[in-house]
Amino acid sequence: MKRVGFIGWRGMVGSVLMERMTDENDFGRMESFFFSTSQSGDSAPKVKNAFEKLLPAMELKELSKMDILVSCQGGEYTSEIFPQLRAQGWSGVWIDAASTLRMKDDSVIVLDPVNRNLIQESMARGVKNFVGGNCTVSLLLIALHGLFKENLVEWVSSMTYQAASGAGAKNMIELLDQMKSVGTTFAANPAASALELEKKMTTLMSSSEFPKTNFGHPLALNVLPWIDSEMPSGQSKEEWKAQVEANKILQTKTTVPIDGTCVRVGALRCHSQGLTIKLKKSAHLSTLEELLGNANPWVKLVANTKAETLKELTPAAVSGKLSVPIGRLRQMTLGDTYFNAFTLGDQLLWGAAEPLRCVLLQTLA
Ligand code: NAP
Repeated sequence: MKRVGFIGWRGMVGSVLMERMTDENDFGRMESFFFSTSQSGDSAPKVKNAFEKLLPAMELKELSKMDILVSCQGGEYTSEIFPQLRAQGWSGVWIDAASTLRMKDDSVIVLDPVNRNLIQESMARGVKNFVGGNCTVSLLLIALHGLFKENLVEWVSSMTYQAASGAGAKNMIELLDQMKSVGTTFAANPAASALELEKKMTTLMSSSEFPKTNFGHPLALNVLPWIDSEMPSGQSKEEWKAQVEANKILQTKTTVPIDGTCVRVGALRCHSQGLTIKLKKSAHLSTLEELLGNANPWVKLVANTKAETLKELTPAAVSGKLSVPIGRLRQMTLGDTYFNAFTLGDQLLWGAAEPLRCVLLQTLA
């Protein structure tokens, strides 16, 4: 059995990966070793065939004993540890959730429902670095797979509504702390009018007591239209990733432009995207519905009605599910090649953990 080391297994992505692998009995197929940057020596998670103690995640000697390393620890860890491991000759398979290695020539961005053939060809060619894509990019490609397969897309503009947990466990907890603070202020002013309450909340949000160490700003009762660092193009790094990663995943011969504004919102889990899709030629709505709805086992077409949209096309309805719904599909008044759509998906499942799980299982096969 192959020896698989897991780093970052208690973070948001890592813990969802553990949950999925436990549910699907994957641990029976490997010997597992759990690493930690902060808790080495403590008890490891009790899964089948696991070594009982946590190993030190910064020790190359321990890491290099593994056939496969799966890191959900984040980009700083990858930047520090991965080059050292390769430099000292470790030739195992590196599977990663962080963005650090995505655009490197010797890495494949994995998204099983969309580029399984590429993953398999790469494995046969001896590629050893497999990286999960950006969560919004992966979910966008699963949703629009049917249109990309038919080479129908001229460009896409995506306006995102990204959940707090997309920024990690500490940030998600911070959103809840902010909501608690809002709730406490509300409870202390039971007789206040709506306008008085709005003023109290606005004052609270700008006060130094409001918890905002991780986001740096209020997210509760607010939206944050900047995610990740600044790029020279004026895009945020999250916005920049859409085009470069999507085209790498799809292996397009000519770049399909994908751009828009990425916004953090107060949803807990699930990233949503409002799309403007420019097609290369006009197409009937029913043709698009058929192409989109049948592209892969995970995409789910939602009828463009108020009732179905509000029932099926919200983070509350989709959290914890593997399906990737797409709805609000209609021709826009902009012209007969412009279509509107709204899609969302669990950014911790197909947006992060599930592509890693799929490639791990293929590496074991
Ligand atoms: P995260 O929740 O912040 O976890 C990363 C590490 O932080 C954990 O492994 C843990 O390391 C440490 N940690 C500190 N306090 C913690 C707490 N209260 N609860 C849990 N862990 C805590 O990061 P993540 O969101 O899983 O992201 C991991 C990587 O995946 C990043 O590169 C991210 O960009 C990428 N990614 C994230 C998402 C997403 O939706 N979150 C989606 C796609 C890709 P120790 O156990 O070693 O202390």
